[in-house]
Amino acid sequence: MNHNNDLLWLAAIAFEAAEAMLVTDRNGIIQRVNPAFTRVTGYTSDEAIGQNPKLLQSGRHSAEFYATLWNELLKKGRWAGEIWNRRKNGEIYPEWTSIAAVRDEKDEIIYFVASFFDISQQKAAEDALHQLAYYDPLTQLPNRQLFLEHLATAQASAQRGCHYGAVLFVDLDDFRRISDARGHEIGDQLLQEVATRLTRFLRAEDIVAHFGGDRFTVLLINLADTQEGAARFARGVAEKVRLALSMPIQQQNYTYVLGASVGIALFPAQGNPPDEPLKHAETALNQAKVAGRNAVRFFEAAMQTQVENRVALESEMRGAIERNELRLYLQPQVDGEGRIIGAEVLLRWQHPERGIIPPDHFIPLAEETGLIVDMGEWVLLEICRLLARMTAVGQPLRLAVNLSPRQFRQPHFATRVKAALSATGADPAWLTLEITEGLAIQDIKGTIAILSALKALGIHLSIDDFGTGYSSLAYLGQMPVDELKIDKSFLQRVPHDAHNTALVETILAIARHLHLSVVAEGVETVEQADFLRTRNCDCYQGYLYGRPEPAETFLRSTLPAGRLPATSDGYPG
Ligand code: C2E
Ligand code: CA
Ligand code: CA
Repeated sequence: MNHNNDLLWLAAIAFEAAEAMLVTDRNGIIQRVNPAFTRVTGYTSDEAIGQNPKLLQSGRHSAEFYATLWNELLKKGRWAGEIWNRRKNGEIYPEWTSIAAVRDEKDEIIYFVASFFDISQQKAAEDALHQLAYYDPLTQLPNRQLFLEHLATAQASAQRGCHYGAVLFVDLDDFRRISDARGHEIGDQLLQEVATRLTRFLRAEDIVAHFGGDRFTVLLINLADTQEGAARFARGVAEKVRLALSMPIQQQNYTYVLGASVGIALFPAQGNPPDEPLKHAETALNQAKVAGRNAVRFFEAAMQTQVENRVALESEMRGAIERNELRLYLQPQVDGEGRIIGAEVLLRWQHPERGIIPPDHFIPLAEETGLIVDMGEWVLLEICRLLARMTAVGQPLRLAVNLSPRQFRQPHFATRVKAALSATGADPAWLTLEITEGLAIQDIKGTIAILSALKALGIHLSIDDFGTGYSSLAYLGQMPVDELKIDKSFLQRVPHDAHNTALVETILAIARHLHLSVVAEGVETVEQADFLRTRNCDCYQGYLYGRPEPAETFLRSTLPAGRLPATSDGYPG
């Protein structure tokens, strides 16, 4: 028997095999198919012969895929792999295909033989296995294995992107007792309800997993750029989890109340193994259970204290206005000759136990909770009263009040200011309102509208912390403001630091160009004052001239003379 006959004999056997086969000529035109081919594809041999195998293409593979296939087939003489094809009835299915190029004695390709079998059943089995390996069968939530994989990815991305995420470990407080008393079927239904509630309010990128029993975990990705910010978010979510799980569950005419404890750990924690946050969250959870059920605890002790302080502060702050604990301090602003021409109003909180709390410790929280709106309104009203009093004794001073973003953007803010002015009889010409540069550049149009309304009332407007907010000159030119305050951070090391010195000079030049007056804040040394004075700065504020003092003290010491005592060694001029 010669070689060709061998092949034909082999082919004859193979053709009756269970594997689908097709033979094409060297141009890829189908010459023969076997009965298994018809069973798998649905095409009879009459339908297939004379066609190109493209007949079977599913459209799932790119042109590149076929190019690579052909390349390899021509180079090595064979190709094997998985292909998605389409049956005659339109159904797309995966098959395992082997193709061989058959050559004659002159080593020229005479035909191609392809054999393949349908692997859709194996595929389905693989998917089922995947489901089993990675998902909890009861709740269909990711299991511990999959959670750990997500956690490792999240950790790596947090480390790279310098942001923080959190792991919450959730444990149902009364589940064991209920499940033991009412049976496992009820227990399973409760767990399913818990799974539904947990997934309902989380973001799409967050992951809820079921570790079996009554233990669930939540992975919160990319919460904030700072640990504190992430802690705040994570706590918020943990509280929501606790609340959602303490709502009664109705099940077959019974009402169950579960309650949940939550342990929180933040990541990344430098150089730790990927599952460390999970262990930490579990430790925190155990502490939460010891502390009493239905509690939320952080693994990080510092975060725990911070959160507790914050919660305490927040609730105390709510009553601060009514209990009359807010205090107004005034810090003098002087002109080039050292005459007091005004003062900045700085808020303090006289806490019954903690003493005087500086604004940096409570204003951000007030801003976040919205309490700043009431506080700001209180400050404004008090200052208008004070202005009216000062005018009445014939010694008015310009008073500058800080506005928070939330207060500034509250509806009808200008109308409220107008109401405060007319209620007290204060002259708006003596009132300055300070907004920060950062606030000004968010929503430029809205800002300009509010500023214009305030300007129309006759109020003086100032941009605080100028130079820190990257505002452009174009925007600045559109703002109806009167004054810039150079941020105190720029005045540090002036005139020794060339960079800061250049910045201050630039700001002064910009202000001159836009016809704005300039207040330099944080003037602490005579040298700084001299530097500013030679560059025609209009107004000076800083420890050199006086620290913030309680308003009454300030007025008593300042008003009678109208000048700072000449003994102050920082006296300009
Ligand atoms: P700010 O508006 O930039 O106020 C200036 C801060 O710099 C004040 O801090 C002041 O005491 C401090 N300071 C003044 N001169 C010097 C100096 O020579 N050297 C140094 N190192 N610091 C100086 P304070 O009173 O702690 O206020 C901090 C921030 O709290 C204020 O920054 C302002 O943003 C905010 N704030 C204060 N009162 C209020 C208020 O009534 N409402 C609102 N929304 N924010 C307020
Ligand atoms: Ca200010
Ligand atoms: Ca400032």
